[in-house]
Amino acid sequence: MPSETIKIVWIYPDLLSTYGDGGNVIVLERRARLRGIIPRTVRVHSDEPVPVDGDIYLLGGGEDRPQILAAQRLRVDGGLHKAVEFGAAVFAVCAGYQLLGHEFGGEEGQPVPGMGLLDIRSGRGDVRAVGELAGEVDPALGVPMITGFENHQGVTRLGPAAKPLARVAVGIGNGDGYEGAYNGRIVGTYMHGPALVRNPGLADLLLSWAVKRRLEPIDDSWAGRLREERLRAVLPTPS
Ligand code: GLN
Repeated sequence: MPSETIKIVWIYPDLLSTYGDGGNVIVLERRARLRGIIPRTVRVHSDEPVPVDGDIYLLGGGEDRPQILAAQRLRVDGGLHKAVEFGAAVFAVCAGYQLLGHEFGGEEGQPVPGMGLLDIRSGRGDVRAVGELAGEVDPALGVPMITGFENHQGVTRLGPAAKPLARVAVGIGNGDGYEGAYNGRIVGTYMHGPALVRNPGLADLLLSWAVKRRLEPIDDSWAGRLREERLRAVLPTPS
Protein backbone atom coordinates (compact mmCIF):
# COMPACT_ATOMS: atom_id res chain seq x y z
CA MET A 1 0.00 0.00 0.00
CA PRO A 2 1.48 3.43 -0.87
CA SER A 3 2.29 5.50 2.20
CA GLU A 4 -0.04 8.33 3.15
CA THR A 5 1.56 11.75 2.64
CA ILE A 6 0.48 15.34 3.22
CA LYS A 7 1.91 18.54 1.86
CA ILE A 8 2.26 21.40 4.35
CA VAL A 9 2.88 24.86 2.91
CA TRP A 10 4.31 27.51 5.21
CA ILE A 11 3.52 30.82 3.59
CA TYR A 12 6.10 33.58 3.77
CA PRO A 13 8.31 32.67 6.75
CA ASP A 14 10.33 35.78 5.77
CA LEU A 15 7.34 38.08 6.46
CA LEU A 16 4.91 36.21 8.68
CA SER A 17 6.35 34.23 11.58
CA THR A 18 6.50 36.24 14.79
CA TYR A 19 6.30 34.75 18.30
CA GLY A 20 7.40 31.28 17.25
CA ASP A 21 4.48 30.70 14.88
CA GLY A 22 6.81 28.48 12.81
CA GLY A 23 6.38 25.97 15.67
CA ASN A 24 2.99 25.20 14.15
CA VAL A 25 4.77 23.51 11.24
CA ILE A 26 6.85 21.32 13.58
CA VAL A 27 3.76 20.19 15.49
CA LEU A 28 1.84 19.25 12.35
CA GLU A 29 4.83 17.30 11.03
CA ARG A 30 5.32 15.44 14.31
CA ARG A 31 1.66 14.61 14.84
CA ALA A 32 1.40 13.41 11.24
CA ARG A 33 4.46 11.15 11.60
CA LEU A 34 3.11 9.64 14.82
CA ARG A 35 0.14 8.42 12.72
CA GLY A 36 2.39 7.07 9.96
CA ILE A 37 1.54 9.99 7.66
CA ILE A 38 4.59 11.36 5.86
CA PRO A 39 4.67 15.17 5.87
CA ARG A 40 6.31 17.08 3.02
CA THR A 41 6.82 20.71 4.03
CA VAL A 42 7.44 23.55 1.63
CA ARG A 43 8.57 26.96 2.89
CA VAL A 44 7.42 29.55 0.37
CA HIS A 45 9.24 32.85 0.58
CA SER A 46 7.51 36.03 -0.48
CA ASP A 47 9.35 36.15 -3.84
CA GLU A 48 8.19 32.63 -4.75
CA PRO A 49 4.87 31.39 -6.14
CA VAL A 50 2.48 29.70 -3.72
CA PRO A 51 1.95 26.08 -4.83
CA VAL A 52 -1.68 25.14 -5.36
CA ASP A 53 -1.40 21.45 -4.44
CA GLY A 54 -0.84 21.76 -0.69
CA ASP A 55 -3.05 20.07 1.90
CA ILE A 56 -2.48 22.50 4.80
CA TYR A 57 -1.35 26.12 4.47
CA LEU A 58 0.06 27.97 7.48
CA LEU A 59 0.39 31.73 7.92
CA GLY A 60 1.87 33.36 11.03
CA GLY A 61 1.76 36.78 12.62
CA GLY A 62 3.72 39.82 11.52
CA GLU A 63 4.30 43.52 12.00
CA ASP A 64 2.10 45.96 10.08
CA ARG A 65 4.39 46.55 7.08
CA PRO A 66 5.33 42.92 6.39
CA GLN A 67 1.62 42.12 6.78
CA ILE A 68 0.67 44.65 4.07
CA LEU A 69 3.40 43.35 1.76
CA ALA A 70 2.31 39.75 2.35
CA ALA A 71 -1.33 40.60 1.54
CA GLN A 72 -0.33 42.40 -1.69
CA ARG A 73 1.84 39.50 -2.85
CA LEU A 74 -0.69 36.82 -1.98
CA ARG A 75 -3.44 38.70 -3.83
CA VAL A 76 -1.31 38.99 -6.96
CA ASP A 77 -0.06 35.42 -6.68
CA GLY A 78 -3.52 33.82 -6.45
CA GLY A 79 -2.13 30.38 -5.45
CA LEU A 80 -3.76 30.35 -2.02
CA HIS A 81 -7.18 31.14 -3.51
CA LYS A 82 -6.83 28.20 -5.91
CA ALA A 83 -5.67 25.87 -3.14
CA VAL A 84 -8.75 26.78 -1.07
CA GLU A 85 -10.97 26.11 -4.10
CA PHE A 86 -9.32 22.67 -4.33
CA GLY A 87 -10.26 22.02 -0.66
CA ALA A 88 -7.02 22.77 1.22
CA ALA A 89 -7.05 23.60 4.93
CA VAL A 90 -5.66 26.96 6.06
CA PHE A 91 -4.51 27.91 9.55
CA ALA A 92 -3.63 31.57 10.02
CA VAL A 93 -2.45 33.47 13.08
CA CYS A 94 -2.94 37.16 13.89
CA ALA A 95 -1.58 39.17 10.91
CA GLY A 96 -2.13 36.07 8.77
CA TYR A 97 -5.70 35.78 10.10
CA GLN A 98 -6.48 39.44 9.43
CA LEU A 99 -5.19 39.35 5.87
CA LEU A 100 -7.45 36.42 4.97
CA GLY A 101 -10.40 38.80 5.44
CA HIS A 102 -11.85 41.52 3.23
CA GLU A 103 -9.68 44.26 4.76
CA PHE A 104 -7.45 45.07 7.72
CA GLY A 105 -5.90 48.17 9.26
CA GLY A 106 -2.48 49.34 8.05
CA GLU A 107 0.17 51.09 10.14
CA GLU A 108 -1.83 54.35 10.22
CA GLY A 109 -5.11 52.47 10.53
CA GLN A 110 -5.80 52.88 6.79
CA PRO A 111 -7.91 50.07 5.28
CA VAL A 112 -5.77 47.60 3.36
CA PRO A 113 -7.45 45.05 1.07
CA GLY A 114 -7.15 41.43 2.19
CA MET A 115 -7.77 38.21 0.32
CA GLY A 116 -11.50 37.84 0.99
CA LEU A 117 -11.11 34.17 1.89
CA LEU A 118 -12.79 34.69 5.28
CA ASP A 119 -15.83 36.91 5.83
CA ILE A 120 -14.12 39.17 8.37
CA ARG A 121 -13.04 42.82 8.51
CA SER A 122 -10.30 44.08 10.77
CA GLY A 123 -9.38 47.61 11.74
CA ARG A 124 -7.20 49.31 14.29
CA GLY A 125 -8.45 49.18 17.88
CA ASP A 126 -7.92 51.84 20.55
CA VAL A 127 -5.80 49.63 22.78
CA ARG A 128 -3.20 47.01 22.02
CA ALA A 129 -4.32 43.55 23.14
CA VAL A 130 -1.33 41.90 24.84
CA GLY A 131 -1.43 38.89 27.13
CA GLU A 132 -2.85 35.44 27.64
CA LEU A 133 -5.91 34.46 25.63
CA ALA A 134 -8.18 31.48 26.27
CA GLY A 135 -11.51 30.49 24.77
CA GLU A 136 -14.23 27.83 24.58
CA VAL A 137 -14.17 26.47 21.04
CA ASP A 138 -17.33 26.13 18.93
CA PRO A 139 -18.56 22.63 19.93
CA ALA A 140 -19.05 21.77 16.24
CA LEU A 141 -15.26 21.54 15.91
CA GLY A 142 -14.77 19.03 18.74
CA VAL A 143 -11.66 20.79 20.10
CA PRO A 144 -11.14 21.47 23.83
CA MET A 145 -10.64 24.98 25.22
CA ILE A 146 -7.82 26.79 23.42
CA THR A 147 -5.05 28.82 25.02
CA GLY A 148 -2.46 31.16 23.58
CA PHE A 149 -0.80 34.53 23.74
CA GLU A 150 -2.08 37.59 21.88
CA ASN A 151 -0.29 40.76 20.82
CA HIS A 152 -2.20 42.87 18.29
CA GLN A 153 -3.70 46.28 17.73
CA GLY A 154 -6.33 45.03 15.31
CA VAL A 155 -9.97 44.33 16.13
CA THR A 156 -11.97 41.96 13.95
CA ARG A 157 -15.66 41.76 13.08
CA LEU A 158 -17.23 38.69 11.52
CA GLY A 159 -19.66 38.74 8.62
CA PRO A 160 -22.46 36.16 8.26
CA ALA A 161 -20.31 33.67 6.35
CA ALA A 162 -17.73 33.35 9.15
CA LYS A 163 -18.29 31.59 12.48
CA PRO A 164 -16.40 32.48 15.66
CA LEU A 165 -13.72 29.95 16.51
CA ALA A 166 -14.17 30.39 20.28
CA ARG A 167 -15.92 32.40 22.98
CA VAL A 168 -13.33 34.40 24.91
CA ALA A 169 -12.76 33.26 28.50
CA VAL A 170 -9.62 35.35 29.10
CA GLY A 171 -8.18 38.15 26.97
CA ILE A 172 -9.50 40.19 24.04
CA GLY A 173 -9.42 38.12 20.82
CA ASN A 174 -11.52 39.73 18.08
CA GLY A 175 -12.71 42.41 20.51
CA ASP A 176 -16.38 41.37 20.38
CA GLY A 177 -16.32 38.61 23.00
CA TYR A 178 -15.17 36.03 20.48
CA GLU A 179 -11.80 34.82 19.33
CA GLY A 180 -10.82 33.88 15.79
CA ALA A 181 -13.07 32.71 12.97
CA TYR A 182 -13.55 29.76 10.69
CA ASN A 183 -15.40 28.84 7.55
CA GLY A 184 -15.11 25.45 5.88
CA ARG A 185 -11.49 24.44 6.34
CA ILE A 186 -10.14 27.94 6.90
CA VAL A 187 -9.31 28.77 10.51
CA GLY A 188 -7.97 32.08 11.81
CA THR A 189 -6.91 32.93 15.35
CA TYR A 190 -5.17 35.62 17.37
CA MET A 191 -3.33 32.91 19.31
CA HIS A 192 0.42 32.77 19.18
CA GLY A 193 2.24 30.52 21.51
CA PRO A 194 2.63 28.72 18.99
CA ALA A 195 -1.07 27.88 18.79
CA LEU A 196 -0.76 24.26 17.65
CA VAL A 197 1.85 23.45 20.31
CA ARG A 198 -0.50 24.63 23.01
CA ASN A 199 -3.62 23.23 21.36
CA PRO A 200 -2.93 19.81 19.79
CA GLY A 201 -6.67 19.37 19.23
CA LEU A 202 -6.51 22.15 16.64
CA ALA A 203 -3.50 20.50 14.98
CA ASP A 204 -5.41 17.21 14.73
CA LEU A 205 -8.45 18.98 13.30
CA LEU A 206 -6.30 20.31 10.44
CA LEU A 207 -4.61 16.94 9.91
CA SER A 208 -7.93 15.09 9.86
CA TRP A 209 -9.24 17.51 7.23
CA ALA A 210 -6.09 16.90 5.18
CA VAL A 211 -6.26 13.11 5.29
CA LYS A 212 -10.08 13.02 5.29
CA ARG A 213 -10.39 10.56 8.16
CA ARG A 214 -10.43 10.43 11.93
CA LEU A 215 -7.01 10.18 13.54
CA GLU A 216 -5.93 7.72 16.20
CA PRO A 217 -5.40 9.46 19.56
CA ILE A 218 -1.80 9.88 20.71
CA ASP A 219 -0.22 10.44 24.12
CA ASP A 220 -0.67 14.14 24.80
CA SER A 221 0.40 14.19 28.43
CA TRP A 222 3.19 16.76 27.86
CA ALA A 223 1.01 19.08 25.82
CA GLY A 224 -1.72 18.49 28.41
CA ARG A 225 0.58 19.62 31.21
CA LEU A 226 1.43 22.83 29.36
CA ARG A 227 -2.26 23.49 28.69
CA GLU A 228 -3.22 22.81 32.31
CA GLU A 229 -0.44 25.06 33.58
CA ARG A 230 -1.42 27.94 31.29
CA LEU A 231 -5.14 27.56 31.98
CA ARG A 232 -4.55 27.36 35.75
CA ALA A 233 -2.45 30.52 35.54
CA VAL A 234 -4.97 32.59 33.60
CA LEU A 235 -8.48 31.34 34.28
CA PRO A 236 -10.27 32.92 37.23
CA THR A 237 -10.39 30.42 40.14
CA PRO A 238 -13.96 29.46 41.00
CA SER A 239 -14.93 31.07 44.34
N1 GLN B 1 -0.18 44.05 12.79
C1 GLN B 1 -1.34 43.37 13.27
C2 GLN B 1 -1.95 44.01 14.51
O1 GLN B 1 -1.27 44.67 15.27
C3 GLN B 1 -0.95 41.92 13.55
C4 GLN B 1 0.02 41.78 14.69
C5 GLN B 1 0.54 40.37 14.87
O2 GLN B 1 0.55 39.56 13.96
N2 GLN B 1 1.04 40.08 16.05
O3 GLN B 1 -3.13 43.86 14.72
